[in-house]
Amino acid sequence: MARTLGPLLRQPEETVTQSKKLSMVRTALALGGGACLLYAVLVVTKHGTPSVDWTGLLLPPALVGLLVGVLIVLVHRRACRMSVLKIIQQVRQMREHQEVGLVMLAPGDELGEITGPLNEFLTAAKQNVDDVQAENRELRIEARIAEAEKHHTEAIIFSISDAVIVTNRFDELILANEAAEKLLGFKFGHSMRKGFDRICSDGTLVRLIRETRSHAKNFTRRVVEHTMDQKGVSRTFAITLSCVVGQTSEVSGVVAVLHDITHEKEIARMKSDFVSNVSHELKTPLSSIKAYVEMLVDGEADDEAARQEFYEIISTETNRLHRMIENILNISRIESGVLNVVREPLSVTGVVTEALDVALPQAKAKNIEIHQNLAPVYYQVEADHDMIYQAVLNLLSNAIKYTPDGGEVTVSVSLDDRRNVVIFEISDTGMGIPTEDLPHIFDKFYRVQANKKIAKGTGLGLALVKEIIEAVHEGKLSVTSEPGQGSMFSFELPVIE
Ligand code: ADP
Repeated sequence: MARTLGPLLRQPEETVTQSKKLSMVRTALALGGGACLLYAVLVVTKHGTPSVDWTGLLLPPALVGLLVGVLIVLVHRRACRMSVLKIIQQVRQMREHQEVGLVMLAPGDELGEITGPLNEFLTAAKQNVDDVQAENRELRIEARIAEAEKHHTEAIIFSISDAVIVTNRFDELILANEAAEKLLGFKFGHSMRKGFDRICSDGTLVRLIRETRSHAKNFTRRVVEHTMDQKGVSRTFAITLSCVVGQTSEVSGVVAVLHDITHEKEIARMKSDFVSNVSHELKTPLSSIKAYVEMLVDGEADDEAARQEFYEIISTETNRLHRMIENILNISRIESGVLNVVREPLSVTGVVTEALDVALPQAKAKNIEIHQNLAPVYYQVEADHDMIYQAVLNLLSNAIKYTPDGGEVTVSVSLDDRRNVVIFEISDTGMGIPTEDLPHIFDKFYRVQANKKIAKGTGLGLALVKEIIEAVHEGKLSVTSEPGQGSMFSFELPVIE
């Protein structure tokens, strides 16, 4: 036995593989163990049957085998420990660098058997980690794009002057711009994710949003006209309600855009009023002319005096008709911008003097005294002569028209050096204008009910003055009046330096 173990033990250390070492350990243990067992049996049975003394023969090699076996076990244990430490170190490094790699051991290492499956596992884990990281990167990019798109959409919504409200599938507010905050009187920061019915006091708007969401199958977009009360003022809105449909074709919310159409409605109303007013106003003098012409044709004017009276009425009404058509045309020419404005340096005092020449006979007929307080002619403004003349004449003839016989009219032109403007003022001691009528007297066809019996008119004179002074010459027109005390109209134009 010592002979079979000997060559095995004599092999050089480097050529002995780990598996060989293991088998040698097993053999040595088997030999040593076997020898000990045999020795023990012999000792125990030393008074028994054995006839040969094997003890002396077997004990020394068995002890040597045992010693060698223990030695090999220790060496092997140390080698295994080193390999385990290597594995631990490599795993630690992976953890430190946050990177899954492979566990490498020297070729032929006993633990090489473990590293195979371990590396397979690590490779699979690395693949998983790589996949998750790639997915994570994609998700981050997508999240960044979504965030940028969200900011972009919010910027668009916030820049819209119309009120925009966005609610989710639970009718909770998720987005609103400044216009919506102002209109409905809430702060988005405090109202986010709150039920819209708790934020908005207008029941119709709340109902419209709810209906749009719940009846999404019937309409994904609709426009509803709705009048709302805003700080005591009634305003009309065209509300566009659209369903926000998600990828699963499910309605995920509603977008409501409230476009204020109060002004448009007002213009539409004014246009239709204008047409009906024009027709009505033209009809009055026309009917009168028609009636008097028919009477003349039928020979109802018996004498020359009656005929003369009829002619005069026809002439007055024709003039009124002519004036009215002229005024209407001038106003619409100015409004549509087709009127040719000839701006030239002119003296307001000069224009006022011209107008006074025309109006004086009218004042004299009513025994109205006209006071003049005119600045020197050399203060000039840049304006259209005919238009300013028309404006001054309208104001002057109104002052005379609405002032009872024996009254007074004061005309003045002055210079305000501080503001560099020429101011034209005309005041009278006439009927005055009731406070409630004052905001409307520059509207087309507006006539003060209380003053209607005093004089005939078209309700277009002041509308034309306003167009001339404010729209064409960018001046300022104003009025102050007290019923029974008189009125004061004024306008100012920038003076030429
Ligand atoms: P009208 O042809 O009726 O005079 P205007 O447009 O010139 O039309 O004036 C509008 C209304 O303003 C008039 O109907 C009149 O009632 C009132 N008004 C204008 N000027 C005066 C004034 N100087 N004094 C009192 N009322 C005036």
